[in-house]
Amino acid sequence: MGDLVQWLRAQLDEDERIARAAMWCEDAAAWRAAASEYGTPTRPDGPRWYIEDSLEDGVIRTVDPQASDDEGVARHIAEHDPARVLREIDAKRQVIDLHAPGQMEYVDGDVCMACDVRGGEPFYPCKTLRLLALPYAARPGYREEWRP
Ligand SMILES: [Zn+2]
Repeated sequence: MGDLVQWLRAQLDEDERIARAAMWCEDAAAWRAAASEYGTPTRPDGPRWYIEDSLEDGVIRTVDPQASDDEGVARHIAEHDPARVLREIDAKRQVIDLHAPGQMEYVDGDVCMACDVRGGEPFYPCKTLRLLALPYAARPGYREEWRP
């Protein structure tokens, strides 16, 4: 079951690869949503929502979703920029380290000592690791036995 840790680390590596591929340099990881007074062809009176990076280079010149709200989609994209994704990956890696096998002070036999629940549960991999893996359940390699 230690395979869950290996698999989960690979998913975070993939997330990091995807986030970094969306950046053209380290200093451009933070994005913001902004509105221009100039409109779009379908709504010439504006505003036209766009995404720019922290160096004020355009990431998405026009956020123009077919059905969703322009501003809502623009703000959502900006909120989930590479900077945040990389921070979340770093935090998740630290959580995994706390619950990972090989950390003798944290994992004793098949019980995760970091979760510190005594009397049987949680068995290893603990519920913390299973929950961290759950958002990736649709990716190849996820095992139903990991589902919390
Ligand atoms: Zn744990």
